[in-house]
Amino acid sequence: MDTRYLLALDQGTTSSRAIIFSKEGRLVAQAAFEFAQHYPRPGWVEHEPEDILSTTVRAMNEALKKAGLHFSDIAAIGITNQRETTLIWDRKSGKPVYRAIVWQCRRTAGIIEQVKAEGLQEAIREKTGLVPDAYFSASKITWILDETGLRDRAEKGELCFGTVDSFLAWHLVKGHPHVTDATNAARTMLFNLKTQDWDEDLLRIFRVPKAILPQVLDTAQVVGNLAGEYAGGAKVPVSALAGDQHAALFGQGCLSPGEVKNTYGTGCFMLMNTGDKIVRDEKGLLATMAWRLSGQPHYALEGSVFVAGAAIQWLRDELGILQSAAQSEEIAGKVADTKGVYFVPAFTGLGAPYWDMYARGTLLGLSRGAGAAHITRAVLEAIAFQSNDLLTLMADSLGQLPKTLKVDGGATQNNLLMQMQADISGVSVLRPKVRETTALGAALLAGLGAGLFKNPKEAAGQWQLEARFEPSLDAEKRQEALLGWKNAVSSTLFDAAHRKKSEK
Ligand code: ADP
Repeated sequence: MDTRYLLALDQGTTSSRAIIFSKEGRLVAQAAFEFAQHYPRPGWVEHEPEDILSTTVRAMNEALKKAGLHFSDIAAIGITNQRETTLIWDRKSGKPVYRAIVWQCRRTAGIIEQVKAEGLQEAIREKTGLVPDAYFSASKITWILDETGLRDRAEKGELCFGTVDSFLAWHLVKGHPHVTDATNAARTMLFNLKTQDWDEDLLRIFRVPKAILPQVLDTAQVVGNLAGEYAGGAKVPVSALAGDQHAALFGQGCLSPGEVKNTYGTGCFMLMNTGDKIVRDEKGLLATMAWRLSGQPHYALEGSVFVAGAAIQWLRDELGILQSAAQSEEIAGKVADTKGVYFVPAFTGLGAPYWDMYARGTLLGLSRGAGAAHITRAVLEAIAFQSNDLLTLMADSLGQLPKTLKVDGGATQNNLLMQMQADISGVSVLRPKVRETTALGAALLAGLGAGLFKNPKEAAGQWQLEARFEPSLDAEKRQEALLGWKNAVSSTLFDAAHRKKSEK
């Protein structure tokens, strides 16, 4: 029996982490290093590519050291990453031609406006499942090529574009393969979900030379062995590449159509497995890849909440109501309800299903007796209400309410929030033993890619429950709460419409 371990490299927006798991999915050791965020202008966000690579390598070595293991003890490595972030480097030297443009960066909004003005939204949506936005890689590639004047070299095949998985694989794997996987490719806005290939029309729209693009691999597939300079004499295959949310869906064991996970961090990311179907949603959920295994595409629906845990940070940092995020549970627990207070955390507008960029945060329903506890409770409820809005959209496209919701992310430590979610959504909320589901998913996918598991079920079927939260609110009370939330959102939207008018 192979008793070696699986190593996940989880390259995130603010830190690079490495986590070692046993084949059974037990967390053995982890290490993380943060790196600098660069904001050269308002709305611009960049990373130094060298930081992405060096912190990843440091985390990998540190995790091994902590576990008392060597590379020869590692059976497979999986890379999971912040999605959409765009890098372009020299094919020969590996030297980046520009800093990494981070997914959050808004500098290419103008390019997207132009594409929209040409009426190309629907065509793009049809092919990619995405709503045209500056988040995705396509406009970032266009921008770098225009800015650096390197389009000629790109057309001659002298440059490589890649998302972070691609960049790391090029540097870490022997022979510098120029590859990505289908989940990461699906977030570039250049990849056709149906044909599973780069799309000529999209390349034309965004003026991206084909010669710059990586080969698209399955999510679990051997890319090659870790380069000698990192692994010494050991032969360790890198055998999975996956975008972070997709890895988390796998790590949560959401392998069947209709299974859903929600990650509660700064914002929330909800993904539902839709099997071999690309599901189109009219209210703003995105169609995307779940993963591609043995050449078979599996799809997902994705929705996000812009402000979730960030609203807890706001209570702590701006209002000073809390000393720590964790204290929100204790303070909100002091009262039985919000006393009619609702909070809509539209700090940066509202996403699906409302889509109003003019909406701003609103606190309403205050009476003289409302205090810090009620407001904190309303903020926690708002996280659950917003997640429920996404779940409702997913239920609509599925034709039924998913039976369970699997959860992960920093804010899931809050038991009160988890109970609120169960009550508001009327579903069982399941919290796993291993909360590092993104890294776990990458590790298990790597095991699958390296042939250590017979099938996805054997890899991800080991999911273990830590806590279960059952809905306990009666139907009438639940409807009342949902109506209250709808009213709160309506008044926020009314206010937004008013503001929009007065700005004109
Ligand atoms: P990210 O990956 O987006 O940085 P994390 O998964 O690390 O996020 O979660 C951090 C977020 O979770 C923060 O926004 C924080 O306010 C929130 N958070 C952490 N602990 C709690 C808690 N016990 N209750 C509510 N929110 C929490």
